[in-house]
Amino acid sequence: MDPELLLDWFDEHARRLPWREREPSANRGWRVLVSEIMLQQTPVNRVLPVYQEWMQRWPKPSSLASAGQGDVLRAWGKLGYPRRALRLHQTATVIAAEHGDVVPSDVDTLLSLPGIGAYTARAVAAFAYDKRAPVVDTNVRRVVARAVHGAGDSGPPSTTRDMADVERLLPEDDARAARMSAALMELGALVCVARSPRCSSCPLVETCAWQRAGCPEYTGASKPVQRYVGTDRHVRGLLLDVLRESPDPVEKARLDAVWAVDGQRDRCLHSLLEDGLVEQGADGRFALPGEHPTVNGK
Ligand code: SF4
Repeated sequence: MDPELLLDWFDEHARRLPWREREPSANRGWRVLVSEIMLQQTPVNRVLPVYQEWMQRWPKPSSLASAGQGDVLRAWGKLGYPRRALRLHQTATVIAAEHGDVVPSDVDTLLSLPGIGAYTARAVAAFAYDKRAPVVDTNVRRVVARAVHGAGDSGPPSTTRDMADVERLLPEDDARAARMSAALMELGALVCVARSPRCSSCPLVETCAWQRAGCPEYTGASKPVQRYVGTDRHVRGLLLDVLRESPDPVEKARLDAVWAVDGQRDRCLHSLLEDGLVEQGADGRFALPGEHPTVNGK
């Protein structure tokens, strides 16, 4: 794969997204970190409005660290997987207290922060600090499977193999490697999409192994279709909606009204309590964390 072709395409076609702005350079790490946590399993168009409000309100780690958990969960809105919001709050607290309010730039230090996994650590090192660090998501895996291996789609993930694949593609120079990581991801999001790749618009079409092989069908294991309605994730979201919209703790009856299946609803409420996303006071009512007067002595 010729990096020049991909980098030229990226220069011309990359979406202008707020977390990609180079300036101001202050707090660039924070902008990228927040975006990467929000973008996990959530599409760009849903993240954008929440991200913009979030960064206006909490432009650096210390500002988020000083917010209450209830406010953080309200601002997270309907992005889903709300434990991410609490983990981001915890991470911001550590960065403010132990790293001078600046997101660290090296992968090992990033990995030591609460809730930061291998993907996010590498993405922050590459996209915020121009480090040469392979960043592998679903889009990148698909591009590599097709353009390099000639397969119709990526098979099951393998961290070691996927990272080695991408590592081999990156230029030696740090800044160019970081840009290449972003370009691979963008190509997978805009052109080499899962169904019906837009090969006629692709900068790699002349060298793509899948094209050269005659576009063979993908014959590997099919990926499960994820449904949402009726899942525990859906019910947890409905329960949290009630608490987010209420300025005061609510009676259990208000939560019972959102979902008719008692066993599932209670299981979901229990899991929210266990995850620290909901608190129950001595009076039996429920609230977002930090917002129950009988738990927090307000
Ligand atoms: S030519 Fe088609 S299959 Fe190959 S990388 Fe480009 S979009 Fe993907």
